[in-house]
Amino acid sequence: MEQSIAQKLNVIASNLPTEVTLVAVSKTKPNVALEEAYEAGQRIFGENRVQEMVDKFETLPKDIQWHMIGHVQGNKIKYMAPFVSMVHGMDKAKRLKELNKEAEKNNRVIDCLVQMHIAKEESKFGFDYAEAEALFEEGLEKKYPNVNVRGLMGMATNTEDETVVRAEFKELSDFFKKIKQIVKLPAFNVLSMGMSGDYTIAIEEGSTMVRIGSSIFGSR
Ligand SMILES: *Cc1c(COP(=O)(O)O)cnc(C)c1O
Repeated sequence: MEQSIAQKLNVIASNLPTEVTLVAVSKTKPNVALEEAYEAGQRIFGENRVQEMVDKFETLPKDIQWHMIGHVQGNKIKYMAPFVSMVHGMDKAKRLKELNKEAEKNNRVIDCLVQMHIAKEESKFGFDYAEAEALFEEGLEKKYPNVNVRGLMGMATNTEDETVVRAEFKELSDFFKKIKQIVKLPAFNVLSMGMSGDYTIAIEEGSTMVRIGSSIFGSR
């Protein structure tokens, strides 16, 4: 018999190292699916469309922490700024500026991650290593006081070849350590990497936050 959402969630969650945070990626899934995961104890959910996340925020329990994991459009930030818990996809300096502005309007400091382009595919968004290093050298806290850049996010190439995936995660993990030396803030401690197909490799290479959808909720 097919395992329930709660069973799949429990197996995954109980096997994660304690220092790794699980974001249950619930994009495209109906509220009943999220409610089942919530009943099983999950409180952090990841969505990739702002409107869908707003609808779910309005109808589901208020102690859920909502993570925006998808590509962020500047004109949509205002809709999530009142409640979003973490924004993973900061892929341009302009996005940080926009998020800062909307956070300020809401009297909030919003956690976010700088998205790195680590995959071979052209379609994936994000900074390359040199651009990101320059960004952090500028000192982001003073420039964007209403955003709290908590770390980095990246997606490996979508391939069966484990050596490629591992090498990309390792490179990002090494870069994260280097940037930590520049930032020197204790709260700069999140490395979001790993999805259903590659999260065990990501954890071996130093991930502190995994974004898992289909292994919990089924295919989309
Ligand atoms: C959809 C998505 C995930 C989850 O993918 P699964 O393969 O279903 O685990 C993780 N991260 C991002 C950025 C996504 O868009």
